[in-house]
Amino acid sequence: MPASHRTRASSPNSSASTRGLRHLIIVLGDQLDAESTVFADFDPDRDAVWMAEVAHEATQVWSGKPRIAVFLAAMRHFRDALRARGFTVHYRALGELGLGEREAETLEAALADDLATLAPERVLAVRPGEWRLAESLPKVCRAAGVDWSEREDTHFYASPQDFAGWAKGKKELRLEFFYRWLRKREDILMDDGEPAGGRWNYDAENRGSFGKSGPGKLPAPCAFAPDAVTREVLELVDARFAEHPGRLDAFDWPVTAEQAEQALEDFIAHRLPKFGEYQDAIWSGEPWLYHSRLSAAMNLKLLSPRRAVDAAVAAWRKGKAPIEAVEGFVRQILGWREYVRGVYWLRMPGFLDDNALGADAPLPGFYWTGDTDMACLRDALRQTLDLGYSHHIQRLMVTGLFALLLGVRPREVHAWYLAVYVDAVEWVELPNVLGMSQYADGGKMVSKPYAASGKYIQRMSNHCAGCRFDPGEAVGEKACPFTTLYWDFLDRHRERFHDHPRAALQWRNLDRLSDARLEAIRRRAGQVRERMCLSKDVPSDG
Ligand code: FAD
Ligand code: SF4
Repeated sequence: MPASHRTRASSPNSSASTRGLRHLIIVLGDQLDAESTVFADFDPDRDAVWMAEVAHEATQVWSGKPRIAVFLAAMRHFRDALRARGFTVHYRALGELGLGEREAETLEAALADDLATLAPERVLAVRPGEWRLAESLPKVCRAAGVDWSEREDTHFYASPQDFAGWAKGKKELRLEFFYRWLRKREDILMDDGEPAGGRWNYDAENRGSFGKSGPGKLPAPCAFAPDAVTREVLELVDARFAEHPGRLDAFDWPVTAEQAEQALEDFIAHRLPKFGEYQDAIWSGEPWLYHSRLSAAMNLKLLSPRRAVDAAVAAWRKGKAPIEAVEGFVRQILGWREYVRGVYWLRMPGFLDDNALGADAPLPGFYWTGDTDMACLRDALRQTLDLGYSHHIQRLMVTGLFALLLGVRPREVHAWYLAVYVDAVEWVELPNVLGMSQYADGGKMVSKPYAASGKYIQRMSNHCAGCRFDPGEAVGEKACPFTTLYWDFLDRHRERFHDHPRAALQWRNLDRLSDARLEAIRRRAGQVRERMCLSKDVPSDG
């Protein structure tokens, strides 16, 4: 082993580095939880923490700069906080040794390397949140002859075993039933065993759009100016990952637990009251609207979901936010977030290969540049690539919808989503993409595909007014590609859904189209598909 490696693995700040090491505690980039069970019996004299930045984690999918920077900045702050508690932290910083062969190193190789140097009695970790690492890291330890000991991830309300117990014997795993079950079990937003406010679900009140006058003055979310640690990361990412998408000049994400708490309080006070009403609305040039921007902080475990849910419920109890907003927010976190994690662990690793609709088109190149004439997609893509963020409906009903209608290979869609969002970690990204957005699991998660025409985007946003296409047209020069591909999607999957109990109503609209019109749509869809997938261009007739 080169001497340089040994030096790096032993840059300690306390006695655990020089005596025999009892526990080496692995903290991964999405395990930055100061209350983690791995610290419960930490002995600074005998134990040490291991953290590593490896370029492979940013290049195995072509990660955007904001995503890489959020992870690295949060990890470095967490390292510093642990050291301030007197813990020894063996930390591999990216770029420490300059560029070279080590830059391609995987997390597994880095761990193997340091196990040889540090020779702990045991490696202790919270179960990794990603299937790949949950499989590989214990193997690395076994190969090194070191005990691997795993602790439960108490960040979540429900363990994978809880979810599997709930799911047992059920043909369909519907969010709504899981959410009610967990809400009752955890006694959240409940009054005397009944849902607070009298209803489980306020979805109908949560579909507002802004109308022609727009959202008006929006309460800007609190921004966190990069400190010296973060600035160093931003410079590193800009230099090391120069070719990756995204901008860092406006980087203002929370990267510590204190900042995450501040971001939560700011959301509860200023945006939660209208979160419900406008959670599905889209407005050009307004990325945040009434959303919380808390997903990255929560996924990195800087913020506990319990804290977020409790704060929202307390705001309702004090009369500071309406029930439809609070229930909507609780549903996203206690419901969707827990549910997708449960589905992930239940379905991996086979989940990755799902492709129920036989989608086989490549992802259009403009997903990596935002260079398209489609105003809605251009805005969602540029915002995503620049900031590492777009809100749920943009992900589901703009970028996701287009890939679904075009018939893009689910695995390519998955790789894109995993790369570009600051909050992207596989356990939450993959079920949302493959199950919810692409229907690749054949309906295990949602009862029918989220398929819609450009008319939906017209209703929920102001994009169509400034677009060269017309959402009402499926053929001709001004035909909106969403609308063309929507009818074509219904047509291509007619057999599967025409008599489907939940989708039939939508599919029977096909019966109203004449043969000639359907043929024209098919022709136009063929042109769209060919040009999107080959020249990566938006088609024009003629
Ligand atoms: P808000 O709109 O303020 O919602 C509050 C919180 O609810 C979020 O912070 C998040 O923790 C949780 N939440 C909301 N919807 C979901 C959901 N469907 N699944 C799980 N949690 C949810 N979320 C991620 O955290 N990481 C991802 O990689 C990710 N990929 C997605 C891909 C697709 C195709 C879709 C449709 C959704 C994806 N989501 C993902 C869910 C959701 O879009 C984001 O959590 C949300 O947009 C983050 O912004 P926010 O914090 O402002 O959320
Ligand atoms: Fe998007 Fe179609 Fe509307 Fe243009 S017309 S903004 S492509 S939905």
